[in-house]
Amino acid sequence: MHKCKRAGLEMVETAKRKRKRSKTAVKEEETTNASSPSTYHTFHDPADVVLLRSQLLNWYDKVKRELPWRTMAVTESDANIRTYGVWVSEIMLQQTQVATVIDYYNKWMTRWPTVQDLAGATLEEVNQMWAGLGYYSRGKRLHEGALKVAQELKGQMPCTVDSLLKQLPGVGRYTAAAIGSIALGQVTGVVDGNVIRVLCRMRAIGADSTSPAVTEALWSLANSLVDPERPGDFNQAMMELGARVCTPKGPVCSQCPVQSLCHSYYKVHVKQENNSRKLLAKRDRKLSTLPDIEDCMNSRTCPLCPTEPWDDELGVQNFPRKPAKKPPRVERTLTCVVIRPGEEGEDEYLLTQRPNKGLLAGLWEFPSLVLEEKNTEMKQKQALCAEISRILGTPLTESLLQYVGEVVHIFSHIRQTYAVHSVCLKDGDTQTQTENVQWLTRSALQEAAVSTGVKKIMKLCDSGDSQKEQTSKDGKRQKHAGIKKPQTSKKPKLSAANGSSRQLSLSSFFKTAKQES
Ligand code: SF4
Ligand code: ZN
Repeated sequence: MHKCKRAGLEMVETAKRKRKRSKTAVKEEETTNASSPSTYHTFHDPADVVLLRSQLLNWYDKVKRELPWRTMAVTESDANIRTYGVWVSEIMLQQTQVATVIDYYNKWMTRWPTVQDLAGATLEEVNQMWAGLGYYSRGKRLHEGALKVAQELKGQMPCTVDSLLKQLPGVGRYTAAAIGSIALGQVTGVVDGNVIRVLCRMRAIGADSTSPAVTEALWSLANSLVDPERPGDFNQAMMELGARVCTPKGPVCSQCPVQSLCHSYYKVHVKQENNSRKLLAKRDRKLSTLPDIEDCMNSRTCPLCPTEPWDDELGVQNFPRKPAKKPPRVERTLTCVVIRPGEEGEDEYLLTQRPNKGLLAGLWEFPSLVLEEKNTEMKQKQALCAEISRILGTPLTESLLQYVGEVVHIFSHIRQTYAVHSVCLKDGDTQTQTENVQWLTRSALQEAAVSTGVKKIMKLCDSGDSQKEQTSKDGKRQKHAGIKKPQTSKKPKLSAANGSSRQLSLSSFFKTAKQES
Protein backbone atom coordinates (compact mmCIF):
# COMPACT_ATOMS: atom_id res chain seq x y z
CA MET A 1 0.00 0.00 0.00
CA HIS A 2 2.73 2.34 1.02
CA LYS A 3 4.76 1.42 -2.06
CA CYS A 4 1.74 1.93 -4.36
CA LYS A 5 1.12 5.35 -2.86
CA ARG A 6 4.73 6.27 -3.34
CA ALA A 7 4.70 5.04 -6.94
CA GLY A 8 1.44 6.94 -7.60
CA LEU A 9 2.82 10.17 -6.18
CA GLU A 10 5.95 9.68 -8.24
CA MET A 11 3.86 9.35 -11.42
CA VAL A 12 1.71 12.41 -10.64
CA GLU A 13 4.78 14.48 -9.95
CA THR A 14 6.41 13.33 -13.16
CA ALA A 15 3.26 13.97 -15.20
CA LYS A 16 2.98 17.50 -13.77
CA ARG A 17 6.56 18.15 -14.61
CA LYS A 18 6.02 16.77 -18.12
CA ARG A 19 2.99 19.03 -18.81
CA LYS A 20 4.90 22.05 -17.68
CA ARG A 21 7.90 21.04 -19.73
CA SER A 22 5.93 20.52 -22.93
CA LYS A 23 4.99 24.24 -23.01
CA THR A 24 8.44 25.48 -22.33
CA ALA A 25 10.59 22.60 -23.53
CA VAL A 26 12.59 24.55 -26.07
CA LYS A 27 13.09 27.46 -23.72
CA GLU A 28 14.20 25.13 -20.94
CA GLU A 29 16.72 23.37 -23.15
CA GLU A 30 18.15 26.70 -24.22
CA THR A 31 18.42 28.14 -20.76
CA THR A 32 19.62 25.01 -18.96
CA ASN A 33 22.96 25.85 -17.44
CA ALA A 34 25.95 23.74 -16.52
CA SER A 35 24.55 22.78 -13.11
CA SER A 36 21.33 21.40 -14.56
CA PRO A 37 21.95 18.68 -17.14
CA SER A 38 19.88 18.51 -20.30
CA THR A 39 16.86 16.19 -20.28
CA TYR A 40 18.65 14.37 -23.07
CA HIS A 41 20.73 12.67 -20.38
CA THR A 42 17.78 11.67 -18.22
CA PHE A 43 14.55 9.72 -18.65
CA HIS A 44 12.07 12.57 -18.72
CA ASP A 45 9.21 10.52 -20.20
CA PRO A 46 7.59 8.31 -17.50
CA ALA A 47 6.52 5.86 -20.18
CA ASP A 48 10.20 5.22 -20.95
CA VAL A 49 10.87 4.52 -17.29
CA VAL A 50 8.02 2.01 -17.14
CA LEU A 51 9.27 0.37 -20.33
CA LEU A 52 12.83 0.19 -19.07
CA ARG A 53 11.79 -1.44 -15.79
CA SER A 54 9.60 -4.06 -17.40
CA GLN A 55 12.02 -4.94 -20.21
CA LEU A 56 14.97 -5.17 -17.87
CA LEU A 57 13.18 -7.23 -15.21
CA ASN A 58 11.67 -9.60 -17.80
CA TRP A 59 15.10 -10.21 -19.21
CA TYR A 60 16.60 -10.66 -15.73
CA ASP A 61 13.93 -13.18 -14.72
CA LYS A 62 14.80 -15.26 -17.76
CA VAL A 63 18.59 -15.13 -17.75
CA LYS A 64 19.76 -14.38 -14.22
CA ARG A 65 22.45 -16.56 -12.76
CA GLU A 66 21.56 -18.55 -9.66
CA LEU A 67 24.07 -17.32 -7.12
CA PRO A 68 24.20 -18.40 -3.46
CA TRP A 69 23.70 -14.88 -2.08
CA ARG A 70 20.77 -14.29 -4.41
CA THR A 71 19.12 -17.50 -3.27
CA MET A 72 19.81 -16.60 0.35
CA ALA A 73 18.32 -13.09 -0.09
CA VAL A 74 15.09 -14.65 -1.37
CA THR A 75 14.79 -17.70 0.89
CA GLU A 76 16.12 -16.43 4.24
CA SER A 77 13.27 -15.16 6.40
CA ASP A 78 15.46 -13.59 9.11
CA ALA A 79 16.25 -10.02 7.99
CA ASN A 80 19.34 -9.91 10.22
CA ILE A 81 20.88 -12.97 8.55
CA ARG A 82 19.79 -11.71 5.11
CA THR A 83 21.48 -8.36 5.67
CA TYR A 84 24.61 -10.06 6.96
CA GLY A 85 24.71 -12.50 4.02
CA VAL A 86 24.28 -9.78 1.39
CA TRP A 87 26.86 -7.63 3.16
CA VAL A 88 29.40 -10.48 3.01
CA SER A 89 28.67 -11.07 -0.69
CA GLU A 90 28.92 -7.38 -1.57
CA ILE A 91 32.27 -6.99 0.19
CA MET A 92 33.64 -10.13 -1.49
CA LEU A 93 32.39 -8.95 -4.88
CA GLN A 94 34.25 -5.65 -4.61
CA GLN A 95 37.10 -6.04 -7.13
CA THR A 96 36.65 -9.83 -7.39
CA GLN A 97 34.91 -11.84 -10.12
CA VAL A 98 31.63 -13.61 -9.35
CA ALA A 99 33.04 -17.02 -10.34
CA THR A 100 35.87 -16.68 -7.81
CA VAL A 101 33.63 -15.40 -5.03
CA ILE A 102 31.09 -18.27 -5.08
CA ASP A 103 33.36 -20.82 -3.45
CA TYR A 104 34.68 -18.37 -0.84
CA TYR A 105 31.16 -17.21 -0.04
CA ASN A 106 29.83 -20.73 0.49
CA LYS A 107 32.74 -21.66 2.77
CA TRP A 108 32.40 -18.41 4.70
CA MET A 109 28.67 -18.75 5.28
CA THR A 110 29.05 -22.38 6.32
CA ARG A 111 31.67 -21.45 8.87
CA TRP A 112 30.10 -18.19 10.06
CA PRO A 113 26.38 -18.28 9.21
CA THR A 114 25.50 -15.28 11.38
CA VAL A 115 27.14 -11.99 12.26
CA GLN A 116 27.60 -13.23 15.83
CA ASP A 117 29.53 -16.25 14.53
CA LEU A 118 31.84 -13.96 12.59
CA ALA A 119 32.31 -11.76 15.65
CA GLY A 120 33.47 -14.87 17.54
CA ALA A 121 36.24 -15.57 15.01
CA THR A 122 39.80 -14.23 15.23
CA LEU A 123 41.28 -11.94 12.61
CA GLU A 124 43.79 -14.68 11.86
CA GLU A 125 40.96 -17.09 11.02
CA VAL A 126 39.33 -14.43 8.84
CA ASN A 127 42.61 -13.77 7.02
CA GLN A 128 43.09 -17.49 6.55
CA MET A 129 39.62 -17.80 5.03
CA TRP A 130 40.25 -14.76 2.84
CA ALA A 131 43.64 -15.97 1.57
CA GLY A 132 43.73 -15.82 -2.22
CA LEU A 133 40.78 -13.43 -2.59
CA GLY A 134 43.01 -10.33 -2.60
CA TYR A 135 42.47 -6.86 -1.11
CA TYR A 136 42.80 -8.29 2.38
CA SER A 137 41.61 -5.20 4.18
CA ARG A 138 38.09 -6.17 3.08
CA GLY A 139 38.07 -9.27 5.29
CA LYS A 140 39.49 -7.27 8.16
CA ARG A 141 36.73 -4.65 7.83
CA LEU A 142 34.03 -7.34 7.72
CA HIS A 143 35.44 -8.68 10.95
CA GLU A 144 35.60 -5.22 12.52
CA GLY A 145 32.01 -4.60 11.43
CA ALA A 146 30.84 -7.89 12.94
CA LEU A 147 32.54 -7.04 16.23
CA LYS A 148 30.83 -3.65 16.22
CA VAL A 149 27.41 -5.18 15.51
CA ALA A 150 27.90 -7.78 18.25
CA GLN A 151 29.31 -5.42 20.86
CA GLU A 152 27.58 -2.09 20.18
CA LEU A 153 24.38 -2.93 18.29
CA LYS A 154 23.24 -5.92 20.32
CA GLY A 155 23.84 -8.26 17.39
CA GLN A 156 21.38 -6.40 15.15
CA MET A 157 22.61 -5.45 11.68
CA PRO A 158 21.77 -1.84 10.69
CA CYS A 159 18.48 -1.90 8.78
CA THR A 160 18.48 1.26 6.66
CA VAL A 161 20.77 2.51 3.91
CA ASP A 162 21.83 5.47 6.07
CA SER A 163 22.63 3.39 9.13
CA LEU A 164 24.50 0.78 7.05
CA LEU A 165 26.59 3.61 5.65
CA LYS A 166 27.26 5.15 9.04
CA GLN A 167 27.75 2.07 11.18
CA LEU A 168 29.68 -0.44 9.12
CA PRO A 169 33.37 0.07 8.32
CA GLY A 170 34.20 -0.42 4.64
CA VAL A 171 30.59 0.20 3.56
CA GLY A 172 30.28 3.13 1.16
CA ARG A 173 27.41 4.63 -0.77
CA TYR A 174 27.16 1.80 -3.30
CA THR A 175 27.45 -1.07 -0.80
CA ALA A 176 24.90 0.45 1.57
CA ALA A 177 22.43 0.94 -1.29
CA ALA A 178 23.03 -2.58 -2.61
CA ILE A 179 22.50 -4.21 0.81
CA GLY A 180 19.49 -1.95 1.53
CA SER A 181 17.76 -2.76 -1.75
CA ILE A 182 18.66 -6.46 -2.03
CA ALA A 183 18.31 -7.56 1.59
CA LEU A 184 15.80 -5.04 2.92
CA GLY A 185 13.77 -4.02 -0.14
CA GLN A 186 14.60 -0.34 0.24
CA VAL A 187 13.82 1.75 -2.83
CA THR A 188 17.21 3.10 -3.77
CA GLY A 189 19.26 2.88 -6.92
CA VAL A 190 22.86 1.69 -7.05
CA VAL A 191 25.79 2.90 -9.08
CA ASP A 192 28.75 0.60 -9.57
CA GLY A 193 31.11 0.15 -12.53
CA ASN A 194 28.56 -1.90 -14.48
CA VAL A 195 25.74 0.56 -13.87
CA ILE A 196 27.98 3.49 -14.83
CA ARG A 197 28.67 1.83 -18.18
CA VAL A 198 25.03 1.01 -18.91
CA LEU A 199 23.70 4.44 -17.95
CA CYS A 200 26.46 6.39 -19.68
CA ARG A 201 25.78 4.49 -22.89
CA MET A 202 22.00 4.65 -22.62
CA ARG A 203 21.96 8.39 -21.94
CA ALA A 204 25.06 9.36 -23.94
CA ILE A 205 26.92 10.67 -20.92
CA GLY A 206 30.41 11.19 -22.24
CA ALA A 207 32.06 13.51 -19.73
CA ASP A 208 34.64 12.02 -17.37
CA SER A 209 32.63 9.36 -15.50
CA THR A 210 34.62 9.99 -12.30
CA SER A 211 33.78 13.72 -12.20
CA PRO A 212 31.43 14.91 -9.42
CA ALA A 213 28.86 16.17 -11.94
CA VAL A 214 28.63 12.79 -13.68
CA THR A 215 28.67 10.86 -10.41
CA GLU A 216 25.75 12.86 -9.05
CA ALA A 217 23.86 12.66 -12.34
CA LEU A 218 24.27 8.87 -12.38
CA TRP A 219 23.02 8.46 -8.80
CA SER A 220 20.08 10.68 -9.51
CA LEU A 221 19.33 8.69 -12.66
CA ALA A 222 19.65 5.34 -10.84
CA ASN A 223 17.32 6.55 -8.08
CA SER A 224 14.74 7.72 -10.59
CA LEU A 225 14.81 4.44 -12.51
CA VAL A 226 14.76 1.85 -9.72
CA ASP A 227 11.59 -0.20 -9.66
CA PRO A 228 9.73 0.55 -6.41
CA GLU A 229 8.19 -2.92 -6.38
CA ARG A 230 11.42 -4.86 -6.93
CA PRO A 231 14.33 -2.56 -6.07
CA GLY A 232 16.80 -5.36 -5.29
CA ASP A 233 16.06 -7.26 -8.48
CA PHE A 234 16.13 -4.09 -10.56
CA ASN A 235 19.56 -3.13 -9.24
CA GLN A 236 20.92 -6.62 -9.74
CA ALA A 237 19.45 -6.64 -13.26
CA MET A 238 21.26 -3.40 -14.12
CA MET A 239 24.51 -4.82 -12.83
CA GLU A 240 23.92 -8.13 -14.60
CA LEU A 241 23.25 -6.27 -17.85
CA GLY A 242 26.55 -4.44 -17.51
CA ALA A 243 28.41 -7.64 -16.65
CA ARG A 244 26.98 -9.84 -19.39
CA VAL A 245 25.61 -7.72 -22.26
CA CYS A 246 26.77 -4.12 -22.03
CA THR A 247 30.33 -5.23 -21.38
CA PRO A 248 33.37 -2.91 -21.51
CA LYS A 249 34.62 -4.53 -24.70
CA GLY A 250 32.38 -6.15 -27.29
CA PRO A 251 28.94 -5.23 -25.93
CA VAL A 252 26.21 -7.43 -27.42
CA CYS A 253 23.68 -4.74 -28.32
CA SER A 254 21.70 -7.21 -30.45
CA GLN A 255 20.74 -9.07 -27.25
CA CYS A 256 20.13 -6.02 -25.11
CA PRO A 257 16.67 -5.75 -23.54
CA VAL A 258 16.86 -1.95 -23.36
CA GLN A 259 18.26 -1.32 -26.81
CA SER A 260 15.21 0.75 -27.81
CA LEU A 261 16.05 3.24 -25.05
CA CYS A 262 19.75 3.53 -25.75
CA HIS A 263 21.09 6.78 -27.23
CA SER A 264 24.49 5.26 -28.01
CA TYR A 265 22.93 2.39 -29.89
CA TYR A 266 20.94 4.83 -32.01
CA LYS A 267 23.96 6.99 -32.57
CA VAL A 268 25.82 4.05 -34.04
CA HIS A 269 22.78 2.83 -35.91
CA VAL A 270 22.00 6.23 -37.46
CA LYS A 271 25.61 6.74 -38.44
CA GLN A 272 25.75 3.38 -40.15
CA GLU A 273 22.53 4.04 -41.96
CA ASN A 274 23.61 7.49 -43.04
CA ASN A 275 26.85 6.12 -44.36
CA SER A 276 25.10 3.52 -46.43
CA ARG A 277 24.42 4.47 -50.03
CA LYS A 278 21.68 1.89 -50.20
CA LEU A 279 19.62 3.71 -47.64
CA LEU A 280 16.00 3.79 -48.57
CA ALA A 281 14.37 7.15 -48.41
CA LYS A 282 11.45 5.78 -46.42
CA ARG A 283 13.74 4.29 -43.87
CA ASP A 284 15.75 7.48 -43.81
CA ARG A 285 12.69 9.46 -42.80
CA LYS A 286 11.90 6.99 -40.07
CA LEU A 287 15.38 7.14 -38.67
CA SER A 288 15.47 10.89 -38.82
CA THR A 289 12.96 10.94 -35.96
CA LEU A 290 15.29 8.97 -33.74
CA PRO A 291 17.30 10.87 -31.18
CA ASP A 292 20.89 11.55 -32.13
CA ILE A 293 23.93 12.16 -29.99
CA GLU A 294 23.89 15.84 -30.94
CA ASP A 295 20.41 16.13 -29.46
CA CYS A 296 21.76 17.58 -26.25
CA MET A 297 20.83 21.19 -26.83
CA ASN A 298 23.56 22.71 -24.75
CA SER A 299 26.41 20.33 -25.48
CA ARG A 300 28.95 23.15 -25.35
CA THR A 301 28.25 23.92 -21.71
CA CYS A 302 26.71 20.61 -20.64
CA PRO A 303 28.67 18.92 -17.82
CA LEU A 304 27.61 15.49 -19.08
CA CYS A 305 28.45 15.80 -22.77
CA PRO A 306 31.79 14.53 -24.02
CA THR A 307 34.57 17.02 -24.59
CA GLU A 308 36.33 14.64 -26.96
CA PRO A 309 34.84 14.04 -30.41
CA TRP A 310 32.90 10.86 -31.14
CA ASP A 311 35.08 8.05 -32.48
CA ASP A 312 33.22 6.02 -35.12
CA GLU A 313 35.49 3.04 -34.65
CA LEU A 314 34.60 2.70 -30.98
CA GLY A 315 30.86 2.74 -31.53
CA VAL A 316 28.92 2.49 -28.26
CA GLN A 317 32.24 2.01 -26.50
CA ASN A 318 32.75 5.76 -26.80
CA PHE A 319 31.04 5.76 -23.41
CA PRO A 320 31.81 5.84 -20.57
CA ARG A 321 34.95 7.95 -20.56
CA LYS A 322 37.50 7.88 -17.82
CA PRO A 323 40.62 9.96 -17.24
CA ALA A 324 43.85 8.21 -18.19
CA LYS A 325 44.82 5.69 -15.53
CA LYS A 326 47.86 6.41 -13.44
CA PRO A 327 50.47 3.73 -14.06
CA PRO A 328 51.03 1.50 -11.00
CA ARG A 329 53.99 2.23 -8.78
CA VAL A 330 56.89 -0.07 -9.55
CA GLU A 331 58.46 -1.83 -6.58
CA ARG A 332 61.11 -4.47 -6.22
CA THR A 333 61.29 -6.66 -3.15
CA LEU A 334 64.03 -9.02 -2.14
CA THR A 335 62.64 -12.14 -0.55
CA CYS A 336 64.26 -15.23 0.84
CA VAL A 337 62.74 -18.69 1.24
CA VAL A 338 64.48 -20.12 4.30
CA ILE A 339 64.09 -23.88 4.67
CA ARG A 340 65.08 -26.24 7.41
CA PRO A 341 64.59 -29.98 7.71
CA GLY A 342 61.60 -30.72 9.94
CA GLU A 343 61.21 -33.41 12.54
CA GLU A 344 58.92 -35.57 10.48
CA GLY A 345 61.22 -35.44 7.49
CA GLU A 346 59.12 -32.71 5.91
CA ASP A 347 60.83 -29.39 5.13
CA GLU A 348 59.75 -26.36 7.11
CA TYR A 349 59.60 -22.78 5.83
CA LEU A 350 60.30 -19.61 7.74
CA LEU A 351 57.46 -17.08 7.69
CA THR A 352 57.21 -13.64 9.21
CA GLN A 353 54.05 -11.68 9.84
CA ARG A 354 53.41 -8.34 8.16
CA PRO A 355 52.39 -5.33 10.25
CA ASN A 356 48.72 -5.10 11.20
CA LYS A 357 48.19 -2.02 9.06
CA GLY A 358 48.80 -1.28 5.40
CA LEU A 359 49.24 -3.57 2.42
CA LEU A 360 48.52 -7.27 3.16
CA ALA A 361 48.06 -6.38 6.83
CA GLY A 362 48.69 -9.26 9.22
CA LEU A 363 49.43 -11.82 6.51
CA TRP A 364 52.42 -14.15 6.62
CA GLU A 365 55.25 -13.99 4.10
CA PHE A 366 58.80 -15.14 3.52
CA PRO A 367 61.34 -12.71 5.01
CA SER A 368 61.34 -9.78 2.60
CA LEU A 369 62.66 -6.27 2.17
CA VAL A 370 61.45 -3.69 -0.32
CA LEU A 371 64.42 -2.43 -2.31
CA GLU A 372 64.97 1.14 -1.27
CA GLU A 373 65.92 3.62 -3.94
CA LYS A 374 69.13 4.67 -2.23
CA ASN A 375 70.32 1.06 -1.92
CA THR A 376 71.90 -1.20 -4.49
CA GLU A 377 70.53 -4.72 -4.77
CA MET A 378 73.69 -6.06 -3.13
CA LYS A 379 73.35 -3.68 -0.19
CA GLN A 380 69.71 -4.65 0.21
CA LYS A 381 70.67 -8.32 0.07
CA GLN A 382 73.05 -7.70 2.96
CA ALA A 383 70.23 -5.99 4.85
CA LEU A 384 67.93 -8.95 4.19
CA CYS A 385 70.63 -11.34 5.43
CA ALA A 386 71.07 -9.25 8.56
CA GLU A 387 67.32 -9.40 9.15
CA ILE A 388 67.20 -13.19 8.70
CA SER A 389 70.25 -13.55 10.95
CA ARG A 390 68.46 -11.52 13.60
CA ILE A 391 65.37 -13.73 13.31
CA LEU A 392 67.36 -16.96 13.40
CA GLY A 393 69.82 -15.85 16.02
CA THR A 394 72.61 -17.17 13.86
CA PRO A 395 74.90 -15.33 11.44
CA LEU A 396 74.13 -15.70 7.76
CA THR A 397 76.18 -14.24 4.91
CA GLU A 398 74.70 -13.21 1.57
CA SER A 399 76.90 -15.71 -0.25
CA LEU A 400 74.68 -18.48 1.17
CA LEU A 401 71.61 -17.05 -0.53
CA GLN A 402 70.88 -18.81 -3.80
CA TYR A 403 69.09 -16.89 -6.49
CA VAL A 404 65.89 -18.68 -7.58
CA GLY A 405 64.19 -16.28 -9.97
CA GLU A 406 61.63 -13.50 -10.13
CA VAL A 407 57.91 -13.32 -9.58
CA VAL A 408 55.73 -10.41 -10.63
CA HIS A 409 52.52 -9.70 -8.75
CA ILE A 410 50.19 -6.84 -9.62
CA PHE A 411 48.32 -5.10 -6.85
CA SER A 412 45.77 -2.42 -7.71
CA HIS A 413 48.38 0.33 -7.49
CA ILE A 414 51.72 -1.48 -7.28
CA ARG A 415 53.61 -3.62 -9.74
CA GLN A 416 55.62 -5.75 -7.37
CA THR A 417 58.58 -7.82 -8.50
CA TYR A 418 59.90 -10.32 -5.99
CA ALA A 419 63.55 -11.23 -6.50
CA VAL A 420 63.47 -14.65 -4.89
CA HIS A 421 66.41 -16.24 -3.10
CA SER A 422 66.59 -19.31 -0.96
CA VAL A 423 68.74 -20.75 1.72
CA CYS A 424 68.61 -24.27 3.16
CA LEU A 425 69.71 -24.67 6.74
CA LYS A 426 71.29 -27.70 8.29
CA ASP A 427 70.46 -29.28 11.67
CA GLY A 428 70.59 -26.94 14.59
CA ASP A 429 70.93 -23.83 12.44
CA THR A 430 67.65 -22.39 13.61
CA GLN A 431 66.79 -21.23 17.04
CA THR A 432 64.02 -18.72 16.96
CA GLN A 433 60.29 -18.95 17.44
CA THR A 434 58.37 -15.80 18.30
CA GLU A 435 54.86 -14.46 17.88
CA ASN A 436 55.63 -12.94 14.50
CA VAL A 437 57.96 -15.64 13.25
CA GLN A 438 56.84 -19.19 12.51
CA TRP A 439 58.12 -22.32 10.86
CA LEU A 440 55.47 -24.05 8.79
CA THR A 441 55.49 -27.27 6.85
CA ARG A 442 54.50 -27.14 3.24
CA SER A 443 50.98 -28.38 3.90
CA ALA A 444 50.47 -25.94 6.79
CA LEU A 445 51.71 -23.10 4.62
CA GLN A 446 49.09 -23.88 1.97
CA GLU A 447 46.36 -23.44 4.58
CA ALA A 448 47.82 -20.42 6.35
CA ALA A 449 46.90 -16.76 5.87
CA VAL A 450 49.41 -16.03 3.14
CA SER A 451 49.07 -13.77 0.12
CA THR A 452 48.90 -14.85 -3.52
CA GLY A 453 52.43 -13.46 -3.91
CA VAL A 454 53.73 -16.06 -1.43
CA LYS A 455 51.93 -18.83 -3.31
CA LYS A 456 53.46 -17.63 -6.56
CA ILE A 457 56.91 -17.69 -4.97
CA MET A 458 56.32 -21.29 -3.84
CA LYS A 459 55.29 -22.17 -7.38
CA LEU A 460 58.47 -20.63 -8.72
CA CYS A 461 60.51 -22.67 -6.24
CA ASP A 462 58.62 -25.82 -7.27
CA SER A 463 59.22 -25.20 -10.93
CA GLY A 464 62.89 -24.70 -10.14
CA ASP A 465 62.89 -28.01 -8.27
CA SER A 466 61.30 -29.93 -11.08
CA GLN A 467 63.62 -28.23 -13.57
CA LYS A 468 66.50 -29.31 -11.44
CA GLU A 469 65.24 -32.88 -11.22
CA GLN A 470 64.78 -32.91 -14.96
CA THR A 471 68.25 -31.60 -15.69
CA SER A 472 69.77 -34.08 -13.25
CA LYS A 473 68.05 -36.96 -15.00
CA ASP A 474 69.26 -35.67 -18.34
CA GLY A 475 72.74 -35.46 -16.94
CA LYS A 476 73.05 -31.85 -17.98
CA ARG A 477 74.48 -29.12 -15.88
CA GLN A 478 72.04 -27.49 -13.53
CA LYS A 479 71.50 -23.75 -13.70
CA HIS A 480 71.19 -21.90 -10.42
CA ALA A 481 67.43 -22.10 -10.29
CA GLY A 482 65.34 -23.87 -7.70
CA ILE A 483 66.00 -24.59 -4.09
CA LYS A 484 69.03 -26.57 -3.20
CA LYS A 485 68.02 -29.09 -0.57
CA PRO A 486 70.35 -29.67 2.37
CA GLN A 487 72.31 -32.91 2.38
CA THR A 488 70.90 -34.49 5.50
CA SER A 489 70.56 -38.19 5.93
CA LYS A 490 69.70 -38.39 9.60
CA LYS A 491 66.55 -37.06 11.19
CA PRO A 492 67.27 -33.51 12.29
CA LYS A 493 67.08 -32.41 15.84
CA LEU A 494 66.14 -28.80 16.49
CA SER A 495 67.69 -26.86 19.22
CA ALA A 496 65.58 -24.53 21.32
CA ALA A 497 66.20 -20.96 22.24
CA ASN A 498 63.40 -18.69 23.47
CA GLY A 499 61.77 -21.67 25.09
CA SER A 500 60.73 -23.50 21.95
CA SER A 501 61.74 -23.79 18.34
CA ARG A 502 59.77 -26.91 17.53
CA GLN A 503 57.44 -26.52 14.63
CA LEU A 504 53.91 -25.69 15.73
CA SER A 505 50.98 -27.61 14.39
CA LEU A 506 48.62 -25.49 12.33
CA SER A 507 46.11 -25.35 15.15
CA SER A 508 48.65 -24.18 17.67
CA PHE A 509 49.95 -21.69 15.12
CA PHE A 510 46.54 -20.07 14.97
CA LYS A 511 46.11 -20.40 18.69
CA THR A 512 49.14 -18.21 19.12
CA ALA A 513 47.63 -15.69 16.74
CA LYS A 514 44.31 -15.78 18.61
CA GLN A 515 46.00 -14.95 21.84
CA GLU A 516 47.57 -11.98 20.12
CA SER A 517 44.36 -10.43 18.86
FE1 SF4 B 1 24.66 -1.20 -23.83
FE2 SF4 B 1 24.23 -1.75 -26.41
FE3 SF4 B 1 22.31 -2.12 -24.59
FE4 SF4 B 1 23.02 0.32 -25.27
S1 SF4 B 1 22.09 -1.22 -26.60
S2 SF4 B 1 22.68 -0.43 -23.19
S3 SF4 B 1 25.21 0.07 -25.59
S4 SF4 B 1 24.27 -3.21 -24.74
ZN1 ZN C 1 24.75 17.15 -22.70
